[in-house]
Amino acid sequence: MSLIVQKYGGTSVGNAERIGNVADKVIAARKQGHDVVVVVSAMSGETDRLLKLARELDPRPSERELDVLLATGEQVTIALLSIALEKRGCAARSYTGAQVCIRTDSAHTKARIMDIDAERIFASLSAGRVVVVAGFQGVDEQGNITTLGRGGSDTTAVALAAALKADECQIYTDVDGVYTTDPRIEPKARRLDRITFEEMLEMASLGAKVLQIRSVEFAGKYNVPLRVLSSFEQGPGTLITSEEPNMEQALISGVTANRDEAKLTVAGVPDQPGVAHRILGPIAEANIEVDMIVQNVGEHGLTDFTFTVHRNDYDKALDIVKRAAKDMGAREVQGDNRIVKVSIVGVGMRSHAGIASQMFQTLAAEGINIRMISTSEIKISVVVDEKYLELAVRALHSAFKLEQTPGGK
Ligand code: ADP
Ligand code: ASP
Ligand code: MG
Repeated sequence: MSLIVQKYGGTSVGNAERIGNVADKVIAARKQGHDVVVVVSAMSGETDRLLKLARELDPRPSERELDVLLATGEQVTIALLSIALEKRGCAARSYTGAQVCIRTDSAHTKARIMDIDAERIFASLSAGRVVVVAGFQGVDEQGNITTLGRGGSDTTAVALAAALKADECQIYTDVDGVYTTDPRIEPKARRLDRITFEEMLEMASLGAKVLQIRSVEFAGKYNVPLRVLSSFEQGPGTLITSEEPNMEQALISGVTANRDEAKLTVAGVPDQPGVAHRILGPIAEANIEVDMIVQNVGEHGLTDFTFTVHRNDYDKALDIVKRAAKDMGAREVQGDNRIVKVSIVGVGMRSHAGIASQMFQTLAAEGINIRMISTSEIKISVVVDEKYLELAVRALHSAFKLEQTPGGK
């Protein structure tokens, strides 16, 4: 008998009928002889609704209380799914994160899982039950409820699969696998049969929210066989694997876009040692993560310094940088929160030159101005104006022939 962890996302448990469908799928897996642990998200829209309520009372609510609030979304779905399973004659029991000891650090709203006590889950499975666990939540050393960041139920599922040494972790969602790009942006996007952990990690980091970044990190680290599938249709989905690509591996596996970006420029700052530190030091102290950084070649003793942050941190970062710029005697601070990052990802890029120039040429042909560039071994990212997001994604998808199976099959 094998053990499977299944995770169902918000849309998949969006109403009572859909929860009933999930119950049927779980029972089908049981009938195939598997032990099943199910992780569920809150019903679609619920986490946003709760967040909005809190912000009506305080635009910057206490993060501890936010976690107590947001964790209720998942508690609703575990109970409803267990009710649906039992009604269908399938023994089931629901557990919150705290009840199965999903121990995290105390970083409210973005906590990291440290440890899971598998005993209670194994005991419940041995009693012949389906175990239904609330995704996205845990408990810290002091017993406070924590949450794992948006999309965190994916990470709960993979972490449980690792802790229980499950045979497979199946992520059921509203698309039937991982695509060459977000199918909502490019309908010609193609489902990938398989993708390496490395590429999936890069795609998730660069905006493909089909899997939370941490879940892919966990899966890679503990070698958890991970598959993304549709809740609504049959099909093989996409396997995320550590296997090296075969000969027919495409140069590029996917195109991603991230809207969560904002850019700040300190213009006319004295070109002296310590500039980066004086600008970015206070940003780091405020716990704001910096993504891309560019410093221009100095001219007449002055230079321009540009960096990007998460759009949620834009206002805070702008205030800090204005203060730093004044102290340093910089000419001005410019900010832009209507930019996006568009990236191409592929391990095949490693052994090929010319990919970057093809990317830049494609964007130029569409009249899209590139504002910043950053590269690594397996990705190239550009910052462009927000209005070009869809155009850039589609143009790159087409230029790298991603709608075609590599090898032309
Ligand atoms: P869930 O609620 O099931 O966790 P999410 O909304 O978090 O679902 O993730 C699924 C969504 O991810 C899809 O509806 C799709 O629009 C988006 N997405 C972005 N990039 C990709 C991609 N490369 N492949 C598949 N889906 C993607
Ligand atoms: N409900 C949480 C969210 O909306 C976690 C998840 O769905 O994975 O982000
Ligand atoms: Mg998700």
